Amino acid sequence: MAILIRNAYVFAPKELGATDVLMVGEKILAVGPNLSVSLPGLSVIDASGFLLVPGFVDPHVHVLGGGGVGGPITRAPAITAGELIRAGITTVVGVLGADVMTRKLPDLLAKVRELNALGLSAWMYTSSFRYPPVTLSQSVADDVALVSEVLGAKLAMGDANGSFPSTEAVLGLLSQIRQAAVTVKKQGLLHVHLGAIPNPFDIFEEIAATGFPIGRHLRPTHCARTEFLLKSACAYAMQESDRYIDITTDGPCYLGHPAAAVSAAVSCGVPVEQITLSSDGHGVVPRFDADGNIVGQAVGEVARNHATMVELVRDYNFPLSAALSLITSNAADSLGLSDQGRLEIGACANAVLLNQNLQIVAVVSRGQVAMHGDTLAVKEPFSE
Ligand SMILES: [Zn+2]
Repeated sequence: MAILIRNAYVFAPKELGATDVLMVGEKILAVGPNLSVSLPGLSVIDASGFLLVPGFVDPHVHVLGGGGVGGPITRAPAITAGELIRAGITTVVGVLGADVMTRKLPDLLAKVRELNALGLSAWMYTSSFRYPPVTLSQSVADDVALVSEVLGAKLAMGDANGSFPSTEAVLGLLSQIRQAAVTVKKQGLLHVHLGAIPNPFDIFEEIAATGFPIGRHLRPTHCARTEFLLKSACAYAMQESDRYIDITTDGPCYLGHPAAAVSAAVSCGVPVEQITLSSDGHGVVPRFDADGNIVGQAVGEVARNHATMVELVRDYNFPLSAALSLITSNAADSLGLSDQGRLEIGACANAVLLNQNLQIVAVVSRGQVAMHGDTLAVKEPFSE
């Protein structure tokens, strides 16, 4: 299949202006004005008046459903491919949460494979909250080296429901991930869920002091959960240009809003390129009333990444290219997925068409139109 998107105003996420994008198979073959293309079966989309941006990358989604720590009725349901596509997300990393007693890694792997089979680009982290880690195979190293969908491992630190791993334990896990990753040319990541208990960043600096290249392999998330955490995360990020911090768009945020947290991190001096957003979608999150009282629980929404990007542009004067980079190229780079999250020759053919109000009107995933208007092309299993 070949698609030529004509004359959209393109943010790649860098601003390219009005230009054409040619997708052939699952790749972007050409980007440039007035492309002359003759291909059998070419479908041409006139996108004049619309913005074309990369497919969104969400590095933390409970694709299998999270929650469960409050009992069986607090287990969130699994996500559907359609829900991700409607949120503009073409690229996703699935994670397990605190409940590893009833949610298992083989189920997560099967779900990730379902999303890939339905036309998305999906990966996962092995393990979960716990230390010692739970794995698909013999070890975290084997999971990273032998299972193509596994980008690294997840771990909880500073969380009352976690295992409080020591500096040596975290360094051991990071080393294991690195050793496996270099054999299969993956980035190799330890994705760390940060709870509210404030010592993980001390541990990270102790690890950095050993000479381990921590920025390459550590990906802390929920960095805006508390003021102390965000300040620590900003100080951590500003030490080295390869360090990333991830801010959750549908989870606890001490400023009440993730866009405010991103703005605070940038004001603090963290380069935008080192910040990513993830939704924590299909985790279970508290909902508050206007006075800040918890009034219930809800399933985390993957659409919050797009909403936060729009708020950064509308309410915080972020340039669109910078706001987009948080959910496209920065997220892809942080995962070591260099062909995701960008509109350039050779990249995976993932794109989102936005109207002038930055609302999503169409999505292309791996070279196929996955949504147009309100119509989803992706067909859910057993949805007849
Ligand atoms: Zn989560």
